[in-house]
Amino acid sequence: MTQLEAARGGRVTARMREAARHEGVDPEVIRAGVAAGRVVVLGDPERGRRPRAVGAGLTTKVSASVGTGAHTPDLAGELEKVRLAVEAGTDAIMDLSDAGDIDATRLAILGASPVPVGTLPFYQAAAQAARTRGSHREATPAQMFATLERQAADGVDFVALHAALSREVLAVQEAAGRLVPEVSYGGSRLAEWMRHHDAENPYHAEFDRVLEIARRHDLVLALADACRPGCLADSLDRAQVQELVVMGELAERSRRAGVQVLLKGPGHVPLHHLRATVQLAKKLSGAAPYFVFGPLATDVAAGYDHIAAAIGGAVAAAAGAEFLCYVTPVEHLGLPDAAAVRLGVVAARIAAHAADVAKDVSGARDWDRRMSEARKRLDWEEQLRLAIDPEQARRVRLRHNPKGAEACSMCGSYCAMKVVGEYLGAPEDPIC
Ligand code: SF4
Repeated sequence: MTQLEAARGGRVTARMREAARHEGVDPEVIRAGVAAGRVVVLGDPERGRRPRAVGAGLTTKVSASVGTGAHTPDLAGELEKVRLAVEAGTDAIMDLSDAGDIDATRLAILGASPVPVGTLPFYQAAAQAARTRGSHREATPAQMFATLERQAADGVDFVALHAALSREVLAVQEAAGRLVPEVSYGGSRLAEWMRHHDAENPYHAEFDRVLEIARRHDLVLALADACRPGCLADSLDRAQVQELVVMGELAERSRRAGVQVLLKGPGHVPLHHLRATVQLAKKLSGAAPYFVFGPLATDVAAGYDHIAAAIGGAVAAAAGAEFLCYVTPVEHLGLPDAAAVRLGVVAARIAAHAADVAKDVSGARDWDRRMSEARKRLDWEEQLRLAIDPEQARRVRLRHNPKGAEACSMCGSYCAMKVVGEYLGAPEDPIC
């Protein structure tokens, strides 16, 4: 029985209970959300990964992507990124390996990660076809499904599939006059496969087979958009919307089959399109949880794309998205190193929390209030403890206030907290 079937049958599973404990809500909230398709539970405690619930009314979650590639063949380096991402507070890891011993890498990441792990199986199928038959275009449908089956059997918690990229959607995309036609790493190669073979996308044509595998392994499907906008100019164009319609239909079929499902979305989206983008995804998918990549609110922040993504992520999550795929400062410029991974996770967590404050998610506003009270008291230990990145806050505090002055070096003896405390009451008085 899958988590979705259990929830529909009124049963609270161990995963739901653990996810509820982490969230600080009644397990029934998680069960009801899963049963309605508005929440998915990722992660299996029996495999050593702490369950996380993603969806409406819950804290916004963050995911960090790692994986071996042609330029990052070192498994130890990727495992260090996993460690740093978890330490920085990521809720999930995506293993996007497409080079080296992909099976061994996946097993190592599954063993090292205490948080749910997702994959994109087509990366491996394409990489293996390139290695054995000279081109990713030579991947066979049998190989694509065998890869999906193997990754599911290894115990990954969720898989991203570009199952909505039908030939019809691809034709719309090709006719849409996009500024940047395709930017999805997996989606563009799958589109190339479809053009090369003049054939339907196997994940789309045989979606029932996808569902049978997902159901058997209680795997969460992340329906990924191959036509996500890769620049602001292409946001909300016909291709994106057409694919979103198909994603919504596949989400409905997934739930009917007892399979938990979420949507994986854009991309590059201007702030004034974000609310409409989220509303469309929610409306068309029956309110499935929405996992967005950033989104980047501007195309011109190279070197600072983690900030562009945090701005877009905060607005998207405030509008209803519930899962943010991190973006690092190296986006568009290269592959992130461990330090960039850490920065990307922290930036995404700031966006997620800012949105949770706006949505009044349980506990979010209280966290900020406690920080403000500590600031008013000039209680530095408490301020550092409550900071979203305590390690960085402590480093900065020490660098700028090596002697541990009561006020910080920003205003020194004119510290407003001290002055106000002297005139308006003891600093320990709570803020009204
Ligand atoms: S010195 Fe200025 S910035 Fe620093 S704690 Fe006081 S009011 Fe805040």
